Amino acid sequence: MVIANLIDGDGIQRGVHNFLVPLRCMQTHKLLTGVTTGDIGPKIGYNVMDNGYARFDHVEIPRRHMAMRFATVDEQGKYAKKHVSDAASKIAYITMMQVRAHICVEAGKNLAMACTIVTRYSAVRRQGFQSAETDSSTTEERQILDYTQQQHRILPLIAATYCFFFTGKIIQTRLADIESRLVSSSQHGKNVVTKPEVADIHASTSGLKSYMTTVAANGIEDCRKACGGHGFLQCSGLPELLTTYLQSPTVEGDNHMLPQQVVKVLLKIVQAVQHQNGVSDFVSCDSYHLVPSLQSIIHTDARRGSGKTAGSETCPASCEKDMQDLDTLCCAFRHVAARLLIECSRQMQTAIVKHGKTPDDAWNDALVQMARVSRAYSQFLLLNNFLHGINQEERDAKSCIGVAEVAMLRDLARLLALYWIESEVGDFLQDGYLSARQADWVRASVLHTLTVVRPNAVALVDARDFSDFRLKSALGRYDGNVYPAILEAARRDPLNQTEPGPGYEEHLKRLIVGGVGVYTGTASRL
Ligand SMILES: Cc1cc2nc3c(=O)[nH]c(=O)nc-3n(C[C@H](O)[C@H](O)[C@H](O)COP(=O)(O)OP(=O)(O)OC[C@H]3O[C@@H](n4cnc5c(N)ncnc54)[C@H](O)[C@@H]3O)c2cc1C
Repeated sequence: MVIANLIDGDGIQRGVHNFLVPLRCMQTHKLLTGVTTGDIGPKIGYNVMDNGYARFDHVEIPRRHMAMRFATVDEQGKYAKKHVSDAASKIAYITMMQVRAHICVEAGKNLAMACTIVTRYSAVRRQGFQSAETDSSTTEERQILDYTQQQHRILPLIAATYCFFFTGKIIQTRLADIESRLVSSSQHGKNVVTKPEVADIHASTSGLKSYMTTVAANGIEDCRKACGGHGFLQCSGLPELLTTYLQSPTVEGDNHMLPQQVVKVLLKIVQAVQHQNGVSDFVSCDSYHLVPSLQSIIHTDARRGSGKTAGSETCPASCEKDMQDLDTLCCAFRHVAARLLIECSRQMQTAIVKHGKTPDDAWNDALVQMARVSRAYSQFLLLNNFLHGINQEERDAKSCIGVAEVAMLRDLARLLALYWIESEVGDFLQDGYLSARQADWVRASVLHTLTVVRPNAVALVDARDFSDFRLKSALGRYDGNVYPAILEAARRDPLNQTEPGPGYEEHLKRLIVGGVGVYTGTASRL
């Protein structure tokens, strides 16, 4: 059974029916006996996509009709890989990585749409007075965006959308560069792309796809909830946005599977550092950034002979302001990613060497830790790419953003980093990298940074320039006319097309005429 949809060269999805429909027609004319095709049926969302199935029952496909460029099947049914150049074998991976990079870009866009809706609505919606003593008849109620808790739910997500924008751009550029080098190497016979380089971008795109789509899917749902009861309405646009997006954590590598691909590659750099051999092979790789922390942890532990990962690096922040320093924050993520990776490696080594487990069982036992490694590594990459992207914008003479915008982007990077530390603070405290006091500074700095970002919240989502047509949301309208739009959407409901509504003549009227429900003067029991 095949269940699939097609993605064309521009990343636009085309229904599998494009090729199933001709199959079906042929089937009707008895040209393809044994082939059954159809739509897989209603899904949780993404229903504009006609995902189809095809079932082949004793259907013989001529051997030469198989795509046999890189692998062959002989007359006896034996499968063999064709020997192709190193470059050509890597090109096959490039397509998969490009799709994952595209998914990362889309994660940022979809989350940004949800953020636009919730932020605009939170600026329009007023609820609760400034204080109990204030005269409620004269004072305007507070915008819900001014509640710290609402800011804590929304503003880090806005920061994530900007971070994802820069990371998406960086990985797509890097992949395009690798692709052009691969093409030129296959033409000129020179191998200008190394194996560690391809493996490394595979690890990065795997980890980022997994983490970014998880953040986006959870974030869209958080935005929906942050709209209160109105977020439950179809006309908010959020239920459709969410349920259509929910396929992304599953497709192109399930998010819970991908961390295995990340760790498989990263373990190679741990070995290189451990044996002090071949570290330079990774110079042009993302994972090379981990080397200072890996060296510090591995070599400090070796000197101590403890086999543990405690205390080799510590956070240098000596006051709350230091804790907000972007380089300090980035180093904290690098340390945690490296520490968790080393622990994962040691966990597997101990299981095999000390407890006699098979490599498969040791690998299975380490899966939960691998998910932690992949998340921490992805956070590090995201933050690093964000800062790199901001610095590039600042240096670029052609950039259309000025000093104030660059400062705002740095505030967003700061907020995101602090918020992520706050959310996973155990990972930072566990080996003493952060002290309890520094963890307090992190919490205080999150609150402080929320107040810095708040005045620009609406401008930050408006800057993404999503049209009302694209958002399809009564809550997220550019003009802020939320309440007339909700009422208008409700008026279009079939139940509201007649006055009185359907069911009155058949049921309600009869009950009232029969005396039931007619006011009899009894006291309310409420
Ligand atoms: C809307 C949509 C569109 C799709 N389009 C396409 C398409 O165009 N082309 C295509 O080829 N496919 C497509 N897919 C299929 C998609 O790639 C798979 O659903 C996805 O890879 C997960 O595989 P599975 O469904 O077999 O899940 P399963 O393999 O059954 O996995 C379920 C869970 O089991 C666990 N698990 C399974 N194996 C392991 C393991 N080895 N180690 C650890 N945990 C494990 C994981 O937690 C996983 O989440 C599409 C799916 C959806 C929902």
